[in-house]
Amino acid sequence: MSEDETAAIEAALEFPTLSRTTHDRAAQHREDPDWLELAWEEGAEVLLLGRDMSTPVREDLDGNIELALKPSRRVDAFPDERTFLGEADGKVYFAAPAKRRDDTDTWSGLRSIGTSLSDLHAGLITSAIGLAEWHARHTHCPRCGTPTEVTKAGWTRTCPSDRSEHFPRTDAAVIMLVHDDEGRVVLGRQSSWGAGRYSVLAGFVEPGESLEGAVAREVFEEVGLQLTDIKYIASQPWPFPASLMVGFHARVVDPNALAPDGKEIEQAAWFTKDELRIAGQWGGDSPASIAAPPDRQRPGGGLAALPGRISIARLLIDKWLAE
Ligand SMILES: [Zn+2]
Repeated sequence: MSEDETAAIEAALEFPTLSRTTHDRAAQHREDPDWLELAWEEGAEVLLLGRDMSTPVREDLDGNIELALKPSRRVDAFPDERTFLGEADGKVYFAAPAKRRDDTDTWSGLRSIGTSLSDLHAGLITSAIGLAEWHARHTHCPRCGTPTEVTKAGWTRTCPSDRSEHFPRTDAAVIMLVHDDEGRVVLGRQSSWGAGRYSVLAGFVEPGESLEGAVAREVFEEVGLQLTDIKYIASQPWPFPASLMVGFHARVVDPNALAPDGKEIEQAAWFTKDELRIAGQWGGDSPASIAAPPDRQRPGGGLAALPGRISIARLLIDKWLAE
């Protein structure tokens, strides 16, 4: 493995891909329309988002993908369509809906480009998409049904009828790598996934439940395993549309109890470290595959592929392999 590859892995293990963020959210400006208008007029950088959450991208001089941000003077957006993202290096950043597509642009989605982006751009687009997804789904007051208005530079919506204020929601989800004492981890696959794709287990936190409680419940429900030593590892926003993935490692009490529920989890199996290294092409970035042993094959398919590096699932696996 080259020095570059080693450095890339170490960097990837430090922060989940979409948790990298370097801009100042500068929330004090959200309620200052004069400041926001002046910033827009003087020349801000604007991240355009299509209805499908795709955005213009380009290659930089080194061949890396970066966001093709637009100068605000060239962007057609009313003040209430401009989401103030923050400031960095003396520049002001907004997001706005794309009303038309310039033919000269290439458009792409966060899932495709996330790992290629700089820390600054990764932070900007993750916030922008999370907010845009929330606005798209929360157009009316949950109390009285009146259409709400965008306020605080895109960070709240306010009901003109009862004046109630509504904030962007973030849904907590837990994601957990379950291991035994012999260097194996359990991976499962959902029937809706592409052939051969396996990942660590995950689920939403329910009202009245702690994060650790959700880890234990989801794993027991999905594959029948009881856990101990539930340990927090890292978290990552996952704006598809509104999750915060909270990642854990946990140790199984009895590995022989593995019994996928057959509904949410179609198949689950124990994988050794060597199998995971091959499946993930340890050090590489492509979604690699290995031929899974017969007891791990789904009907008609013999491959096991790990999630890509944009996911915190992969970080949980890579961190465990690095231990
Ligand atoms: Zn209302």
